[in-house]
Amino acid sequence: MEQTVQEKIIVIDFGGQYNQLVARRVRENHVYCEIYSWRKPLAEIREMNPKGIILTGGPNSVFEKGAAACDPELFRMGIPVLGLCYGAQLMMHLLGGTVGHAPEREYGKTEVQIDKRSSGLLRGVPSPTVCWMSHNDYISRPADGFEVIAHTANCPVAAAECEEKGLYAVQFHPEVLHTEYGKDILRNFVRGICGCSGSWRMEDFAGNSIAAIRRQVGDGRVLCGLSGGVDSSVAAVLLSQAVGRQLTCVFVDHGLLRKNEGDEVEAVFGPHGPYELNFVRVNAQERFYRALSGVTEPEEKRKIIGREFIRVFEEEAKKIGAVDYLVQGTIYPDVVESGMGGESAAIKSHHNVGGLPDYVDFKEIIEPLRNLFKDEVRSLGLHLGIPEKLVMRQPFPGPGLGIRIVGEVTAEKVRMVQEADSIFRQEMDSAGLSRTAGQYFAALTNMRSVGVMGDERTYDYAVVLRAVSTVDFMTADAVEIPYEVLKRVTGRIINEVSHVNRVLYDVTSKPPGTIELE
Ligand code: GLN
Repeated sequence: MEQTVQEKIIVIDFGGQYNQLVARRVRENHVYCEIYSWRKPLAEIREMNPKGIILTGGPNSVFEKGAAACDPELFRMGIPVLGLCYGAQLMMHLLGGTVGHAPEREYGKTEVQIDKRSSGLLRGVPSPTVCWMSHNDYISRPADGFEVIAHTANCPVAAAECEEKGLYAVQFHPEVLHTEYGKDILRNFVRGICGCSGSWRMEDFAGNSIAAIRRQVGDGRVLCGLSGGVDSSVAAVLLSQAVGRQLTCVFVDHGLLRKNEGDEVEAVFGPHGPYELNFVRVNAQERFYRALSGVTEPEEKRKIIGREFIRVFEEEAKKIGAVDYLVQGTIYPDVVESGMGGESAAIKSHHNVGGLPDYVDFKEIIEPLRNLFKDEVRSLGLHLGIPEKLVMRQPFPGPGLGIRIVGEVTAEKVRMVQEADSIFRQEMDSAGLSRTAGQYFAALTNMRSVGVMGDERTYDYAVVLRAVSTVDFMTADAVEIPYEVLKRVTGRIINEVSHVNRVLYDVTSKPPGTIELE
């Protein structure tokens, strides 16, 4: 959703892998920014009146047929432009410079010599400096009017500028933290060259979104599917603050939530909660258990859960009748990962993006969080006054406990894993360890083993505990939980959860493991 803000930077996406970082670094400078595909017509971009434009990297070669491109007019609008890697090559190519295959491609940390220390873009950057490179092509000759401001051993034009027109091209990636002075370079561009004041704050985003949603929705009706997760909750609160009772939230309880979670969601969004909206809770537990009965293969379980979810939602939507808008809690990484909307290659399908209900009768989709990252969504949630407990909750997979139960899912197994998980979380909390692990939970293995309890033979299930620390959820390490805590948790689970007679701790890192079990 386009925001009306005083100062905005537009990032034009040519499909690079680091594009989300570009947007993030701009916002870290308190300058609002939006990302659009290179296919977006220039007239629409000009309409948004940006203070500056950044062209990202991308997989193409500018001289290939069909390569991603832009209207050369972009460089003549009097708006400062910074091209990064592919974006830099494209700028030079379109303005008459020469781009070709580099005799030596560069990948990784590379030493860059600064040739013009007084350049507004490179202010404060020492020479030499380490930058992150990732390219096969290079600019062998800059376009007329450009001055080379940096080079490397293999790259005659590592950076160039045409100061009077406000055009800047860099071959390396300032958005990547391996570029030592990358943050400074981006700051020099947005705050210095573009003249942004850096006054944007997340509160503004909330206020602007609410105003934009009101304008868009008018007196229309809005439907939102609530999963109880952070993204859909924040989207729902934003909508409720914008349009109140014109919003109906449908919460499908698939019976695979953590202990008491369904009731917690209802307490926040239901009739006794603080928000003005219509809330419908569908208790579809039995239906999901039935659909899952006899199914053991993880991918199949995921598909069944996804499919049933959409069906239940559709059935509810039919009861409500035609609506004008459907809200999705899509966030930026969903857009990028699913390869829809973002320009980079698809990495995985995503329930928020891929699983759009086909038969819901609506005119348009509203995705108010589409430009934000997870931590930005959280910070927005806190600004909107959503309880911290809800906003800061751990990541929880869409298929829920369905994929934390190895093998067939049954109501009885759901109960076991809910109880065990709740005990584990309580004990982690009271040991003050909840912050040391990014994610921790109990799962149920499909292993049964012989034990003895009260002099009697048992033949029961093994629970596995998992706790990992991770920065980005791409890699993770098992947390070294003190033995005392593990013993206490084990004792409680075996005493309190019937049909569990063994507790295991998973010390596998990711890779080779994943965080979830299935
Ligand atoms: N595809 C271009 C090259 O190989 C640009 C790469 C990039 O933007 N990272 O040089």
